Amino acid sequence: MSKGLLIVFTGNGKGKTTAALGMAMRTAGHGLKVCFIQFIKGGWHYGEIDAVKRFEGLIDFHVMGKGFTWKSDNIEEDARLAREAWDFARRMIASGVYHTVVLDEFTYLLHYQMLACEPCLEFLNGRPAGQHVVVTGRYAPEQLLATADLVTEMQVIKHPLESGIKAQKGIEF
Ligand code: ATP
Ligand code: MG
Repeated sequence: MSKGLLIVFTGNGKGKTTAALGMAMRTAGHGLKVCFIQFIKGGWHYGEIDAVKRFEGLIDFHVMGKGFTWKSDNIEEDARLAREAWDFARRMIASGVYHTVVLDEFTYLLHYQMLACEPCLEFLNGRPAGQHVVVTGRYAPEQLLATADLVTEMQVIKHPLESGIKAQKGIEF
C-alpha cells in the first residue's frame, strides 16, 4: 500500500505540465493506472494527446471543454463549466480505479474562484487511501500549498520566448 501524496507543481517557470506527464509515464511503466485531466488548453494540438494513446488502458487522458480557455466574457458559464469539470474529476478520483490522478492547470479554477477552495481541498484530502493526486498550474492558493505533501515551484530564469523564439513541437506542444 502506498502513501498517497498530494503533489503541486506551480510557479511561472516552464515544466509543470511536463513534470506531471513524466510522472504519469513513470507510473504507467509500473503497470499502474493514471487519470490525466487537463482543465484548460489553448489552440495547439498537444503531442501528449497522441503520445498517451500508446499507453491505452494505463493512462486515461481527458481534456475538459475542448479548446476552451475559461476566458469567455460569460463568467456564469465559465463557473458552470468549471463545476462540471470538477464533478468529473471527483468521480475519477472517488472511483478508486487510479493509482494517480493528475489535475493539470487546476489551480486556475481556485485562483479565479470558479470553485470554492475549502470544499475542493476537503474532497482531495478524503480521496481513496494510497492514491496520489498531482495538481499543476500557476498561482496555487496558499491553502493548497499548506495541505500538499510535495510542492515544487518552477522559477523562470530564461524562456526562449523572451528571445523571440516561437513555440516548438515537443518543447511547448
Ligand atoms: P509545460 O507544459 O511546457 O510543462 P508549464 O505547464 O509549466 O509548461 P504553463 O504555465 O502551463 O507552463 O504554460 C503553458 C505554456 O506556456 C507552455 O507552452 C510554456 O512553454 C509556456 N510558458 C511557460 N512558462 C513561460 C514563461 N515564463 N514565458 C513564456 N512562456 C512560458
Ligand atoms: Mg501547464
